Amino acid sequence: MDEVTGAQLIAESLKAQKVEYMFGIVGVPIIEVAMAAQAAGIKYVGMRNEQAACYAASATGYLTGRPGACLVVSGPGLIHALGGMANANVNCWPVVVIGGSSDKNQETAGAFQEFPQVEACRLYSKFSARPSSLEAIPSVIEKAVRTSMYGRPGACYVDIAGDMVNAKVDRSQVREVSCCPSPPVSLAGHGAITEAVSVMKAAKRPLIIIGKGAAYGRAETSLREFVEKSGLPFLPTPMGKGVLPDDHPNCVAAARSRALLQADVVLLLGARLNWILHFGLPPRFDPDVKIIQVDLCAEEMGNNVRPAVALLGDINAIVTQLLECVCEDGWKYPSDTEWWGTLKGKIAANAKISKALALQSTLPMNYYTVFHHVSQLLPHDCIIVSEGANTMDIGRTMLNNYLPRHRLDAGTFGTMGVGLGFAIAAAAVERGENRNQRIVCVEGDSAFGFSGMEVETMCRYNLPVVIIVVNNNGIYSGVDPETWKEMEKMGDLTSIAPPVTLLPEARYDEVMTAFGGRGYLVRTVEELRSALQQSLSDWEKPSLLNVLIDPSSDRKQQEFPWLTRSNL
Ligand code: ADP
Ligand code: MG
Repeated sequence: MDEVTGAQLIAESLKAQKVEYMFGIVGVPIIEVAMAAQAAGIKYVGMRNEQAACYAASATGYLTGRPGACLVVSGPGLIHALGGMANANVNCWPVVVIGGSSDKNQETAGAFQEFPQVEACRLYSKFSARPSSLEAIPSVIEKAVRTSMYGRPGACYVDIAGDMVNAKVDRSQVREVSCCPSPPVSLAGHGAITEAVSVMKAAKRPLIIIGKGAAYGRAETSLREFVEKSGLPFLPTPMGKGVLPDDHPNCVAAARSRALLQADVVLLLGARLNWILHFGLPPRFDPDVKIIQVDLCAEEMGNNVRPAVALLGDINAIVTQLLECVCEDGWKYPSDTEWWGTLKGKIAANAKISKALALQSTLPMNYYTVFHHVSQLLPHDCIIVSEGANTMDIGRTMLNNYLPRHRLDAGTFGTMGVGLGFAIAAAAVERGENRNQRIVCVEGDSAFGFSGMEVETMCRYNLPVVIIVVNNNGIYSGVDPETWKEMEKMGDLTSIAPPVTLLPEARYDEVMTAFGGRGYLVRTVEELRSALQQSLSDWEKPSLLNVLIDPSSDRKQQEFPWLTRSNL
């Protein structure tokens, strides 16, 4: 008799569904699952917190189009992973979480780490279930993998009773389930395409917005042809950056506010009209703007703004449809319009302000100086992971992306703490696919703290991630070491230290050296350039640059306050 354990069935089923990466933390009852996963040919990365493990697994899903698996223990292990599931679901990224749980005969009996896990996951996932028998494992795993990718991608959960892990069944009793294919692709109706084309051709101030749905949907090739043949200006959202290169002549990212405010027709490709796009409403948009909304999720159509035309389907397919229609008669939006003049004027003016800030030679450095030099040294094909408040916002405007799916950040949920998990996932995928691309993780000091212990994970697996901590001693802003010393003399810091402060000049670089990576303390431009160059030449070990900047450094003057929403 050829017997197989529950652990083996889980691992083999995941592998059969082409899940190549697993991130997790082992313990009772799921140690054997991780071992079986390795035996089945799945790469297993042991992390330090389930939240980071789940962030990593979901980033794998975004980067490869196939979900990563996240393996966690019962109770608290699963609860820690909920943060990662919520983030994945809100970002529309596929991930499959496998949670060990109490033995079947101990449910509701006060078992070790007992928790209603299937119910708990419902709010954070598209599908949450527990196989009722060993024989049911392959089909439940197939459904979880398929559901995570089909329709709008998201998180799925499979609960494994502890006593099922080592239980055995005769292999001949288990029906194999073959690999589910990539999601089926749908096209928009012909009538809607014709309507969209006529709205677009009538536009005076057209704009394409490229979202992370276009990145996930791998629409880069058709989209480049469409942009170049139509001559239309485009604006990427944060993770839409790189679908077309940021230095493309039609990119108007440096005139973002103006482009959004004055566009009369927006072709919205895989981006929701949520806070990231200021809800598509005044004061940030023209009240009469016509939106041509492209999304594969029908329920998304009309959120906040009723679209002039709704094109339901896959972005890549729809852009190809548009391409055929828009450009069939050689139509092209002229490059000498007043609109292009406005956008180009604004781009030039904004570049001048950033440059002036970047070239300030005072110490400590400001954000703009740091990013100016970092951007000069980063290779064009690097994956940039970024989080933090100012660090992420200013970094986004100054660090260019040239390739699709090469930017990972706090995303739609604005989650801080994702950076190191994302970087580990990107490094694992990059190694798995033999692409020698650098992973550069640009972190605020506060953001770094949420998952800082994952530095040990990077060191353990020799993942040559370069972490740049832009350290302003706090959340949003901090205080300098002298002011901190004065405050220490004044009394109990829990009563007087501003809640935004973190320890001034904390030695995050020594967190890296503690585990055998390279650490650099950086105060000047020269130190920054030399540390970054050395880090980028090391393919063996991770590095961390602890860049001390002016704790009062801030964003340049903005036209609109953050998160404005009116007219409702
Ligand atoms: P951003 O953060 O760039 O603003 P969002 O995450 O808000 O982007 O929006 C991405 C949108 O893309 C989601 O509404 C999702 O349903 C959609 N989407 C994802 N993949 C595809 C695809 N292949 N085709 C069409 N729409 C997609
Ligand atoms: Mg900070």
